Amino acid sequence: MRIVMVGGGVIALLSAVECVAAGHEVTVVDHGDIPHPAAASYDRQRVVRALHLDDPAATAAGARAVGLWAGLQGRLGAAFLERTGALTVLPDADLLRAQATLAGAGAPSRVLGPRALAEGFPHLRFPDGASAVVEPGAAIVLADRALHACADWLRAHPLAELLPRRRVVAVRGTAVHLADNTRLHGDAVLVAAGAWSRPLLPPALAAELVLHRQSQLHCRVPDADAAAWSAMPTVPSLGIGGGAWLVVPVAGTPLKLSASSAGRVVSTMDGQETSPRWRRRLLDLHAPAIAGLSEDWVLEARDSYYLTHAPTGGPLTVAIGERVLAHAACGGSSFKFAPLIAQSLAARLTGAARPTTLRGVS
Ligand SMILES: Cc1cc2nc3c(=O)[nH]c(=O)nc-3n(C[C@H](O)[C@H](O)[C@H](O)COP(=O)(O)OP(=O)(O)OC[C@H]3O[C@@H](n4cnc5c(N)ncnc54)[C@H](O)[C@@H]3O)c2cc1C
Repeated sequence: MRIVMVGGGVIALLSAVECVAAGHEVTVVDHGDIPHPAAASYDRQRVVRALHLDDPAATAAGARAVGLWAGLQGRLGAAFLERTGALTVLPDADLLRAQATLAGAGAPSRVLGPRALAEGFPHLRFPDGASAVVEPGAAIVLADRALHACADWLRAHPLAELLPRRRVVAVRGTAVHLADNTRLHGDAVLVAAGAWSRPLLPPALAAELVLHRQSQLHCRVPDADAAAWSAMPTVPSLGIGGGAWLVVPVAGTPLKLSASSAGRVVSTMDGQETSPRWRRRLLDLHAPAIAGLSEDWVLEARDSYYLTHAPTGGPLTVAIGERVLAHAACGGSSFKFAPLIAQSLAARLTGAARPTTLRGVS
């Protein structure tokens, strides 16, 4: 089959790898470079951990995703996975349930009490009396390196063609219309255009997608604490206000700070600059947890966009024609689950006999 992928983010690139590996011809078209630095997928780090409290299916999918990312390194011949583990501060009432959910997914875990947190990570201040669940199997994907590895692998493959800097203006059946008045024809088409998806979808579906903007700070840690930072698990929840989280600096990446409360609904995509107000807000939010944190630490601040499907709050996968699929990824977990999503999309696009289910992923 000949398959056209609209978009060069993690969803389209991993789907392209799946389809090419199964012997199909694939064209990936993006309005920017491939990968495109403005894509949601293009970041220094993304966390892959299993725990979804009270959601055994998503936890099992998360545990599987780590193994799939590890397998991709071998397939693409590149290194982009750092096995840091993940440390999640939880209320005491949730600790046993979290461990049971992880155990049910075959993911090992241990609990660290207040004393172990204080002694193990003196450069951080956890809330008084707080405990945390540690998932030793969790990892950080060095996202930009993973995307470049996919693009390089595809570029070198005789069945793949990459078309950067070509904007898609419409998808009609399996014909993909470009802004330069040319058309690409496929036997199947995937629209995975991230936050830009809405103009390419039927209006009724587009109206169900909500645009979000999220701010992140990339920081330099003080030299005196650099070794401690890079030896610790990444922290998806610090247990402080605003849903603050951080990604630890590994393999030359900066410390990343953000929070669930740093994502907000917006009406349009309006650049990637982080306003001084959001920079300040993120610093204030993290200050109680990070000793000495100040504006001087900030190397870069950046806003990115994602969509959510209003009825579910998650991603949207939908057939918009015969062998034409659209996947609008969401924030929070679509990067982590991308290898599972790509397997499922590739099976549906190619009509493979045993499509992978997306149970727990969407
Ligand atoms: C701040 C932030 C933090 C996040 N944290 C996490 C996390 O910790 N864990 C996690 O799992 N997920 C996380 N996510 C979500 C995840 O990163 C995204 O859901 C995922 O990367 C989206 O991938 P995608 O390929 O669908 O879209 P994108 O990566 O946005 O790619 C879409 C591509 O389509 C191209 N395109 C768009 N329109 C057109 C067009 N008309 N013609 C041609 N090309 C077009 C764009 O140039 C782009 O390259 C986060 C997202 C954000 C914004």
